[in-house]
Formats: sequence, C-alpha cells, structure tokens
Amino acid sequence: MLYICNVFNFVIITTMKIIQNISTELINAGIKPSYQRIKIFEYVFNNNIHPTVDNIYKKLSKEIPTLSKTTVYNTLKLFEEQKLIKSVAIDENEIRYDARKEIHGHFKCESCGEIFDFNYNYDDLKFFGLDDFVLNQTDVMIKGICKKCRIKNS
Ligand SMILES: [Zn+2]
Ligand SMILES: [Zn+2]
Repeated sequence: MLYICNVFNFVIITTMKIIQNISTELINAGIKPSYQRIKIFEYVFNNNIHPTVDNIYKKLSKEIPTLSKTTVYNTLKLFEEQKLIKSVAIDENEIRYDARKEIHGHFKCESCGEIFDFNYNYDDLKFFGLDDFVLNQTDVMIKGICKKCRIKNS
C-alpha cells in the first residue's frame, strides 16, 4: 500500500513539475499559460507523431470538453509564431506540428501513414541550378514504405 501511495505521489509530483516547466516555457515565450494551452503544448511535445489540428482536438476534447478546434488551431499558430513548435506540410492540405525544431527530414509511409523523423547532414546537400536563389524552406521529405510495413507485406 505504501508503495502504491509512493508511486501515486511520484506521478502527481512529476505531472506538476511538467506543468510547471511548460508554464515557465510559455511565459518565457510571452504566452499566458492557460490550462488549454498547457495541455496542447504537452500533447505536441509528448507525441512525436507530428499531429494535425484534428489529431490534437480529438484527443484533448475528451479531457477538455470546452475545447474547440479553432482554439487548437489558434494556439498552435501562436506557438509557431513564438518559435516553440514548427509546422510541417507533409501532405498538401494537411499541416502537421512538430516539437523538434532542429533541421531533420520526414519520411511518410504510404502504407500505414506514419511519419518518421530522420537526420541528415545539411552541409552535404548539394543543389544544382539554384545559384543566386534564396532558399527559405529546404525540408527534406521522402515517401515510401516503412520497414514494419515492408516486412509485413513480404
Ligand atoms: Zn508503414
Ligand atoms: Zn519531425
């Protein structure tokens, strides 16, 4: 029983700490840390699935019935403006959100739809025919079949 109590306390303390950390991060970015904003921020950070507005709304509206899709959208936009997260257009008409801000590529599996992060050496990339152009968005995006699906289908 004591053990269970300890574990329970630990979970509460850890959760409180995370919420406190998120609040600080939001305040530092000049954002008022409302409960909804904290939950949205926490979700994007803890779920490296590159969620869409719909994903986040579906997941969090169970817990926060007053949440609207517009709030999720506006909150993500605010986070992006304050450079807390990045939006990635993996498919046209579908904006996903990414908590990983450093340069990395995305692989989309055409079978299961999962998005995978991968690293590459940006300095090794060579572009031809774009001399004197300004490159503002150089995200690497690859589509194919992931390892799990390839094994399953073979
Ligand atoms: Zn797959
Ligand atoms: Zn990513």
